[in-house]
Amino acid sequence: MGINIKLLGRCPDCDSPNIKDVIEDRPSFPGGKKIIIPNVPHEKCFDCGERSYDHNSMVYMEAFLAKKNLLPRVKKRKTG
Ligand SMILES: [Zn+2]
Repeated sequence: MGINIKLLGRCPDCDSPNIKDVIEDRPSFPGGKKIIIPNVPHEKCFDCGERSYDHNSMVYMEAFLAKKNLLPRVKKRKTG
C-alpha cells in the first residue's frame, strides 16, 4: 500500500476527514537502496497516520530520483 488516489479530503484507510496537506521527507527504495527524498508534498491522515501520494507527489519523487540518476529505468539516448 502507500499509493492512493486522492479521495475528496477523506482518509482512504479510516475514512477520517482529518487529513491535511503536509511536506515531509519520504524514504524511497529504488533498486533496493534506501534514499530519503526531502520535502515531498502529500496528504496525511492525523487520525491513523496514513499518507496519500497524488500524481504531483509521484512526479516530484521521480524527478528527484531522476536528477540523482537513481531511477531504475534510465533512458539512454545518444544526443550527438
Ligand atoms: Zn486515516
